[in-house]
Amino acid sequence: MQNKARRKTGLKASPRAPFEINGVTAPAGKLTQVELRLARLPTGMWISLPVGVLHGRREGPVIWVSAAIHGDELNGVPIIRHLLDAIDPRRLSGTVLVVPVVNVQGLIQQSRYLPDRRDLNRCFPGSKRGSSAAQLAHLFMTEIVARCELGLDLHTGSGGRTNLPQLRCDLDEPGTLRLAREFGAPVLLHSRLRDGSLRAAAREIDKVVLVYEAGEASRFNTKAIEMGVEGTLRVMKSLGMIEDSVQGPKVAPRISRASSWVRARRTGFCEMTVHLGTEVAEGDSVAVIFDALGQDRSSVKAKHHGIVIGHVTSPLVHRGDAIAHIAELPETVGSEGE
Ligand SMILES: [Zn+2]
Repeated sequence: MQNKARRKTGLKASPRAPFEINGVTAPAGKLTQVELRLARLPTGMWISLPVGVLHGRREGPVIWVSAAIHGDELNGVPIIRHLLDAIDPRRLSGTVLVVPVVNVQGLIQQSRYLPDRRDLNRCFPGSKRGSSAAQLAHLFMTEIVARCELGLDLHTGSGGRTNLPQLRCDLDEPGTLRLAREFGAPVLLHSRLRDGSLRAAAREIDKVVLVYEAGEASRFNTKAIEMGVEGTLRVMKSLGMIEDSVQGPKVAPRISRASSWVRARRTGFCEMTVHLGTEVAEGDSVAVIFDALGQDRSSVKAKHHGIVIGHVTSPLVHRGDAIAHIAELPETVGSEGE
């Protein structure tokens, strides 16, 4: 109808201005691939961050979706692939910058860390002439975060652990809480800002970050990927960026304001007695640790009422190892305590 009207009046629709990034011009209505150069290899080749710019034809928010800040946390890579399949840039309002692999060197070495053993998520906002981790953090902050108003950062459990799909963010911010509920992960966890994290650095320049944690390192977990795709699309719909309704069940999240790990009190073989998502009471067994003949068993017990949001996956554990991560729930079952 709009086009017909324009033909009648002889007016042409003015196309949306392109998105400029790193010297590249991304036109509206398309996916544009950009490479952000990070460092040279000894052979002279560049290590670059692959970035996708989905620049919609209509005005709207600019957001980013990033993955693999920890180089072995890979569920975010297929989440971004499915998002690119699902979002039509010709019908998009606003712009989405996707960065499927932030820690490129960690990915290649199948490691959480950078080659200098630094944790990138403790190096933000970084600096132009700092360590290689600081330079990568600085590049990401200046080229991606600074151009956006909101970001979704996709993680998994660290090596040898698995996480229930959960969203971590500042639940004291009403706007953030509303978007986090919209995402529809089973658990929303209020988490404090850690020094050097992307979330803390982004907060300093007034950007909202939703951290999605789901599944295991070095694995693709189908359910975690599906929930990540559907949750991100629901957030985009709530921001008015897309119009189509989103597939998949949206669960009313349990809201938790604190979490802690219960640890092994002895070394041995560990069998979990709960699953991700199990609700436990104080004193409930979450795992049994035993010796090679199955004797000398000791039970690992929950210290408070809550929901199991992560646990160890290794069958062998040592005294002091973290066994189960429990998000505290208010005493009344079903209440969100807000
Ligand atoms: Zn991570």
